[in-house]
Order: sequence, then structure tokens, then C-alpha cells
Amino acid sequence: MATPKKKTPEKPEKKAEAPKASSKAKAAPTKSAPAKTPPPPPAPEKPKIQIDPDLVEEIKHELLRKKQELGSNVSNELDDMREAAEGHHLADMDDLGGDAHDEETQYKILEIESAELGQIDMALDRIVQGTFGACEVCEKAISAERLRALPFTNLCINCKRLQEQNEA
Ligand SMILES: [Zn+2]
Repeated sequence: MATPKKKTPEKPEKKAEAPKASSKAKAAPTKSAPAKTPPPPPAPEKPKIQIDPDLVEEIKHELLRKKQELGSNVSNELDDMREAAEGHHLADMDDLGGDAHDEETQYKILEIESAELGQIDMALDRIVQGTFGACEVCEKAISAERLRALPFTNLCINCKRLQEQNEA
């Protein structure tokens, strides 16, 4: 009995070599034009005058120092006055004359110091706003010399003189 051998046809083995894909295509980042630095924005509302920033810094420092000094003076004086006022209740009526005079002087000092504190705050405001150092009347720069002497002035020497003449 001859069993016919089933001949299995040999399958041609395809050694399909995967085509080496050209992996050359490295996704090179498309270089765009070099980033341009944006042009500086046209500074809006520049203060009309230029004050040396070092000078402003120096004056700001001085203003803050003075403000602190005055502030503690004022609060000390207020304390003194409060104490004096409380003392009055016990004081002999004969003493009131002298005390009243002292109080008046104290009030005046306090008034001057408070006014000065207000001026200092205004000057600090002007520094923040960038208008510091400009005369409020003629809008010209106040000299560095004058600013150092009177850090919270808002008038140039000329306008100040005119103002004094008008007041006289
Ligand atoms: Zn002026």
C-alpha cells in the first residue's frame, strides 16, 4: 500500500527584509527667523523733565528718614499733650496760665511738623508718579541743589521768589 505522500509544497519563504526606511527624515525643527527683540515701547507720558535717578533715590531716602523722625516726634508730643490735658483736671487753677502757653507752643510745633509730614508725603507721591523734581508752576526742573536743601519743595527757585513777592 503505497500511501501517496502528500507533498507539501514548500512555501517559498519570503525573507522580506523590511526596507530600511530612510529614517533620515529627522524632524528637524524648522528654524524660524531669529527672534527679534521687540522694539522698546515708546515710553508713554514721560515726565517732562529728567531728574538724576540717583538724586531721587537719595532724596527719597532722606524723606523717609525725616518722615519717621517727625512721625515719632508728633506722636510723642501728642502723648505729652494728652498727659498734660489730663493733668489739668488736678492742677491748681493758678497754674493754668503757664500751661496754656506751653500748650499753645506745643500746638504750633505740632502744626508745623504735621504740615511738614504732609509735604513729605506729597513729595514721596511725586517720586512714585515720576513728577518729582519738576516745578509745579513752570514745569521746569528744580535744581538738584534746591532739592537737596528742600527735598519736599514743589517750586523752583524762580517761582518760589515770585510767590513770596506776591505774598509780601
Ligand atoms: Zn518754576
